[in-house]
Amino acid sequence: MGTGGEVLLYIGGYGRSGSTLLECLLARLDGVVVLGELEHLWERGVRQNQRCACGEPFADCPFWAEVGRTAFGGWDQVDVERVLALKAAVVRQRHLPRMLRRSLPPELANQAAEFTGYHHRICDAAQQLTGARVVVDSSKFPPLAVALAHDPAIDLRMIHLVRDSRGVAYSWSKTVARPETEDGEAMPRYSSVHSSAHWLSHNLAMQLAGRLGRPVLRIRYEDLVADPEATVSQAWRRLGLPGPGTLPMEDAHTIELLPTHSVAGNPMRFTRGRTVLRSDEAWRQGMPRGRRLLVTLLSAPLLLAYGYRLRSAQEGS
Ligand SMILES: [Zn+2]
Repeated sequence: MGTGGEVLLYIGGYGRSGSTLLECLLARLDGVVVLGELEHLWERGVRQNQRCACGEPFADCPFWAEVGRTAFGGWDQVDVERVLALKAAVVRQRHLPRMLRRSLPPELANQAAEFTGYHHRICDAAQQLTGARVVVDSSKFPPLAVALAHDPAIDLRMIHLVRDSRGVAYSWSKTVARPETEDGEAMPRYSSVHSSAHWLSHNLAMQLAGRLGRPVLRIRYEDLVADPEATVSQAWRRLGLPGPGTLPMEDAHTIELLPTHSVAGNPMRFTRGRTVLRSDEAWRQGMPRGRRLLVTLLSAPLLLAYGYRLRSAQEGS
């Protein structure tokens, strides 16, 4: 397999933590191409033909058609059933304890290598077509980061994006439409307990992923929105990524977002044009007291570890 020498930058963490926002920002850096949540490419893109962020259905998007041709001689040349079976064997939260070992049992190692090989070819193709030196996968899902970390052919670096668990839980409790599907079906909604449990397990798993010897840097959503330019350029330096990592901000919080070919992810990936970044703190006013207390209690140890306050000024009033 030929390698383009690109860095695969993986954004990991739990949903509703701002990964799509981060991806939209990174898309503005020179030498960077963002691909969206590659975890969902096979099911939502290749199989269901959902909409790319450019607005075209997957099969009609010229970028993804070219990636498929370059990587595999066309998407129709790939045995998608096989890829999904490999994914099910390798990329699962419940397989994490086995996958987190430095050396995998032989059968699992073979399956993991075959699966990440597909990933690698997609990233190589994107690199070849765009000349980018950094390819961004915003899949978030920690087990995929762990699988990729086992592939020595992939130059993997990770951003572990965290957000206050109460903001995350509040976001999951609201209805969000998904414009990329035919029937505009809404994104799922989760209870506070579900959201807190997954917030804990995803964030812990991203911390553990760092033990496999690949660079991982934790960023807080709130810091990213407060100072996007400094947060991104600092991350670029700390992860040793090529290029200066300087966002073309218009002012401290305003940036022009451009169309991307993000294949799947939060509807925010369809946002373009002049955008003012604001931290979404609606939970501080909108979240019922009981639910806020429950989420705080469930997630307290990691909230503290990430530097969040358990009680905010507004809560006292
Ligand atoms: Zn597209």
